Amino acid sequence: MTHQKKDITAIVIGAGIAGLSSAIRLAAKGVHVTVLEQQDTYGGKMGVWEQDGYRYDTGPSLFTMPQYVDELLTIDGKNDVTFEYDELENIGNYFWEDGTQMTATKDVEQLKDEFLKQLSEPKENIDAYLADSKIKFEITNHVFLEKSLHKLKTYLSWGTVKSFFRLSKVDIFKNMNAQNELRFNNPKTVQFFNRYATYNGSNPYQASATLNVIPHYEFGFGAFFPKKGIRSIADALYQKAIHLGVIFQFSTQVSKVEKIGERYIVNGDTESDILICNMDVASAAKGPLKNFVSSKRKKYEPSSSALIFYWGIDREFKELDLHNIFFSSDYMKEFENIFHNRKIDNDPTVYIHISSKCKVDDAPVGCENWFVMVNAPYVAGQDWEKMINEARENILIKVSKRLGTDISRHIRLEHKLTPELIQSKTGSYKGALYGSSSNDRMAAFLRQPNFSSGHKGLYFCGGSVHPGGGIPLCLLSGKITTDIIAHDFKLY
Ligand code: FAD
Repeated sequence: MTHQKKDITAIVIGAGIAGLSSAIRLAAKGVHVTVLEQQDTYGGKMGVWEQDGYRYDTGPSLFTMPQYVDELLTIDGKNDVTFEYDELENIGNYFWEDGTQMTATKDVEQLKDEFLKQLSEPKENIDAYLADSKIKFEITNHVFLEKSLHKLKTYLSWGTVKSFFRLSKVDIFKNMNAQNELRFNNPKTVQFFNRYATYNGSNPYQASATLNVIPHYEFGFGAFFPKKGIRSIADALYQKAIHLGVIFQFSTQVSKVEKIGERYIVNGDTESDILICNMDVASAAKGPLKNFVSSKRKKYEPSSSALIFYWGIDREFKELDLHNIFFSSDYMKEFENIFHNRKIDNDPTVYIHISSKCKVDDAPVGCENWFVMVNAPYVAGQDWEKMINEARENILIKVSKRLGTDISRHIRLEHKLTPELIQSKTGSYKGALYGSSSNDRMAAFLRQPNFSSGHKGLYFCGGSVHPGGGIPLCLLSGKITTDIIAHDFKLY
């Protein structure tokens, strides 16, 4: 490559958080970056919706690993974008049908006391589990999450070799539930830890026990809430990108990509040396990148999707906190329905996120903004209207019973996000929340690599790309991608 740094241009397709992460990193290295986004705003799945004094973060609600955002915001040594967050003392409130209730705290001693008091789970079981989760993190983080799995260089490093010697400890051949059943006395504790599979849209009865690493993110590093809400992560990244000179073209859907010589021509009029695809790889393979991506990428086994109701509630509930989980009575049946029968269970686990518990101006005084989510199957020709209406009824019955009041009487306004809408708004294949499913133990290796081996200058980032979905991993995918670009284009 003979380019001077100042000549190098890049186009990023999509202003999701992975696209923003890549754009910031490349711009900080002196590349001229243009982001083309089909929607009229940035953030992708990290959306926002407001009405009548209620504000909702429409996508992600749980924020871990804030250091990845901090790193991006100070990448050029300037602290010119304000982004503040608090660490949560109480991570979540958990409710079971039989009246059992517990609070998961950041403080591990308190957490163990709570498991013992509410679920009679011996403290040593929790200690052993969290220690194992930490070991899994130490073994997998540098190899599986921070580097490309498709570059020989990754396997030649001493860190990777060490990790490979310890691979037996990540329990790749067991499933999460099987390992959790061996570790805990109380089935409710098993259910509590099985739920972490949903953090990347997996099925705990199928996904490898390696995913038992996920609790370490929450209990080892903590859970956080941005002072201005989750959407402020995207706001801050967008501002940083603007400060670094990134150009954004909104309401610009990329429908055509050509290559002439070594340059990419997008929509017939915008040229660049580097093209980064942040749109879902299956949608790209069927659409603008059909001549550049193998046809086998046109489909993949997606992660689960979700159905979310945004309810403006006209009163406060003291027993609820920022994150609340109302468990189903038969977790195995729930996942069987989501992943095999492709339907929402009639007793779904209900997650209620209330950002007004931390950011009081997210709801009118004396009211709460409920984000009510159930796990849903990906889009596969279902009768969604029927399933959504039934799910709404089942959610209302379940939560009303547990809170001892008819919730339907307190809903002042309603808005919803469905798997089909997630698919149409963000181009997410079949409405998957987290790209491809992690249920297969080889999932990490099957995901789209961060670069194209056939087309120089073409790269990928985002939830459908290595290392996968969720805020921390999408931000890391932007890093892995730009590290490879820096090497290929000698951007040192
Ligand atoms: P996206 O956000 O999907 O961005 C892709 C962008 O590309 C979009 O803006 C899209 O409009 C654009 N695009 C697509 N096609 C084109 C085209 N042809 N031309 C131009 N632009 C195009 N993660 C967590 O960490 N914690 C959570 O609690 C959590 N909860 C979630 C709840 C919900 C309801 C959802 C939907 C997701 C949740 N996630 C959560 C997952 C997380 O939001 C995603 O993994 C992450 O935001 C994906 O970012 P991305 O950059 O890969 O893609």
